[in-house]
Amino acid sequence: MIINKRCNAPAWKDLFTSSKMPESLSKLDEIAHNLWWVWNPEAKALFKSLNPSVWHENFGNPVKLLQSLSQSKIEEVMEDSALQARIADIYEKFRAYIDEKPDNTKPSVAYFSMEYGLTNILKIYSGGLGVLAGDYLKEASDTNIDLVAVGFLYRFGYFDQTITSDGQQVAVYKPQDFEALPITQLFDENGRQVQISIPFLDHMLMANVWSVAVGRVTLYLLDTDIQENNEWDRTITHQLYGGDWENRMRQEYLLGIGGIELLNRLGIKKDIYHCNEGHAALINAERLANHIERDGLTFLQALELVRASSLYTVHTPVPAGHDYFDESLFGKYMGRFADRLGISFHELVDMGRENPGSGEKFSMSVFALNTCQEANGVSFLHGKVSQEMFAPVWKGFFAKELHVGYVTNGVHLPTWTQPEWKTFIEEKISSDICHTQEQESVWNKIQDVDNEEIWKVRTELKQKFIRYIQKHYGDNWVRNNGDPSKAVDLINSINPKALLIGFGRRFATYKRAHLLFTDLERLSKIVNNSDRPVQFIYTGKAHPADGGGQGLIKHIVDISKKPEFSGKILFLENYDMQVASMLIAGVDVWLNTPTRPLEASGTSGMKALMNGVLNFSVLDGWWFEGYREKAGWALTDKKTFQNQHHQDQLDAATIYHILEEELIPLYYNRAEGKEYSDEWIQWIKNSMNYILPHYTMRRMLQDYIERFYNPLAKRFKLISADSGKIAKELVEWKIDVAEKWDQVEVENCSMIVHDRTGDHSLTVGEMLEVNLYIDKKDIAGDLLAELIEVKADKEDANKLLLEEVTPLEIVEQNGSKVHYRIRKEAENPGHHKLAVRLLPTHPALPHKMDFSLVRWVNID
Ligand SMILES: *Cc1c(COP(=O)(O)O)cnc(C)c1O
Repeated sequence: MIINKRCNAPAWKDLFTSSKMPESLSKLDEIAHNLWWVWNPEAKALFKSLNPSVWHENFGNPVKLLQSLSQSKIEEVMEDSALQARIADIYEKFRAYIDEKPDNTKPSVAYFSMEYGLTNILKIYSGGLGVLAGDYLKEASDTNIDLVAVGFLYRFGYFDQTITSDGQQVAVYKPQDFEALPITQLFDENGRQVQISIPFLDHMLMANVWSVAVGRVTLYLLDTDIQENNEWDRTITHQLYGGDWENRMRQEYLLGIGGIELLNRLGIKKDIYHCNEGHAALINAERLANHIERDGLTFLQALELVRASSLYTVHTPVPAGHDYFDESLFGKYMGRFADRLGISFHELVDMGRENPGSGEKFSMSVFALNTCQEANGVSFLHGKVSQEMFAPVWKGFFAKELHVGYVTNGVHLPTWTQPEWKTFIEEKISSDICHTQEQESVWNKIQDVDNEEIWKVRTELKQKFIRYIQKHYGDNWVRNNGDPSKAVDLINSINPKALLIGFGRRFATYKRAHLLFTDLERLSKIVNNSDRPVQFIYTGKAHPADGGGQGLIKHIVDISKKPEFSGKILFLENYDMQVASMLIAGVDVWLNTPTRPLEASGTSGMKALMNGVLNFSVLDGWWFEGYREKAGWALTDKKTFQNQHHQDQLDAATIYHILEEELIPLYYNRAEGKEYSDEWIQWIKNSMNYILPHYTMRRMLQDYIERFYNPLAKRFKLISADSGKIAKELVEWKIDVAEKWDQVEVENCSMIVHDRTGDHSLTVGEMLEVNLYIDKKDIAGDLLAELIEVKADKEDANKLLLEEVTPLEIVEQNGSKVHYRIRKEAENPGHHKLAVRLLPTHPALPHKMDFSLVRWVNID
């Protein structure tokens, strides 16, 4: 019928046109598309100078800025010879940096993370984990490591936060305009878009690939929001930490399986595969399958090679913070892998269970632990906490024996020092601070700097921060406050001469943002002392699903509106990297009050430190290691109350006390006619001298190289040589030992006490002897026998604390019969418990936890 509409669908042909730029502007465009500018203030200043208001409106986005230049402005730039010289100079520095070849003496690394905080304009991060990953890439570039990274290009990223006048957080998801970001879509040599496709349910999932140049390092970002995908699949890369568990499963599938597929597609192979948090663990499922399908290895052989080249960094201190998936949900996406790996589906799911064979959910972290030879926490304390948390994975071992290590986090100094302060450091400390920042001796020079000069820069940074607040928050406050004059008062109330205390972070409840507000009367006295003014500035986002965190924000916003606190307590909305960089440099003190031991590391305090700001924090995370006397303040590390509410009360009282009796008096301890306290500046000097050098990203990267990358690469090289000769031997040996393990016969194990005093009991100083006779039957190689001494925990009798592990010596070996003995002096009085542990040994094992067989032997 003629009225039936008839229309076929067009097949659009892609046409890409780029604007034609004069050569010197194309140099600027090249710089704009490499995040090198993020940590090179000269380059930023150059962009800003081209059009300060556009720069400001776009939160410092040079790509957007260049796109918005009018033809007349371009001509103006071309004719300005001084500006041309400046562009040429910066470009030359940029090229000299970029053209350096990576250091091939260090292992190469593929790094995987769900988020990267590189700059506030690239909204692919939410908080600390992402900022750490972003800083890591920048430092890998500065240190010249051969590193490639993989993540997602989120259409909406993490949310923007607005706060209503009654303190409610509103989460706004704004789409990112990819064309106006410092990223580049990847095309192949034929000019076609590079796309990866991976099996997904009953079809293929496609993703476009974008690259972000981070100095000399490349970060590849996957993007599924493309027309080739169905509507449902397009949403996979829409939001960071949004959606339900299924969405999380789909994202982790894409990051792992798609991430490795991408590297394969680009022909990239690295020595080390580093999972930043468990989210990326599925890379190892795909790597296993690749080894099996391409190299003809068995599952177990592939597992040896994959493990030997993998590191898992955990950032979460509590089991609840890890990802767990129902077996059916896991199976829906990963089911096909059982076939590819040549194992049963149950075996596959068991790789993610603390107790194989149980009905536990699939844990990404456990899978990561089972497929990565090494694992680490992110501070000394968090390393210990992680050992406890992961102890159930390795049966037969005590938490403190585990191979789980740590590398304390750090921050990228060139990113997080404000330009004024960076220049100051380069002048007074070292012109090559980029390469010397981790050496404490270099920072000794700070002790000789004139106090006046330090105060001058500190004051500049405070004023700059206040101008920033006025510029960015002024309009909003006027709009939100009903009464514009009140808002203006508020804006003018921020006092650069006051002691400014900052608190900025994710509003997770464990961070205890409310602690300061426990006793409002006492707080009011502190902030309303006109002789010694103090102001608090709070900022932070709560996850949209975290009602508790949003309640905390409301609580603080409500208090900040009370007459006695108006202008004394401020809440800045939409905490992001830009607000962070102003805040951590623009206050005098950085306050952090987490519940111990839930702050795995924390990094904001390190950023503050690098700008001459003092820390006042709970002795948790990095501050447990970082704190020095006369260089900051610490809330005691002793948890004295089981009841968290009582603990909060005590901690709050301690905070008030320290503020009233120590911190505020120190700040205002000014000699006649002076604007500052000499003692305060001495504390700044101490903190920069003795703390700062140990919390740089440079030190952190060096730790990763020395503690993990080098040993992993060395062992991988060894066991993978000759088509994996040693790896194959190891597997053969493991299979053989596992088969024969139950045959091992313990003939006798007994203890003799060499009782000198004749009182039939062991006295300190006397010898005890344990003899063990076994028949190891057909097992090849020696078994290790260890005497394990434990004692019961005073607080929890069911918990055994490891005291000592001592190997027994082989005194006689007759065929398969072995006699072991240990003689040792009793050292500590008290009730101890002893047992002997038998383990198989092989020279190619990296550590005891590498093989799952343990046999406990009772001592008669
Ligand atoms: C540094 C940073 C964080 C991390 O803060 P913590 O101290 O680890 O809580 C979070 N968000 C932003 C925007 C940051 O810059």
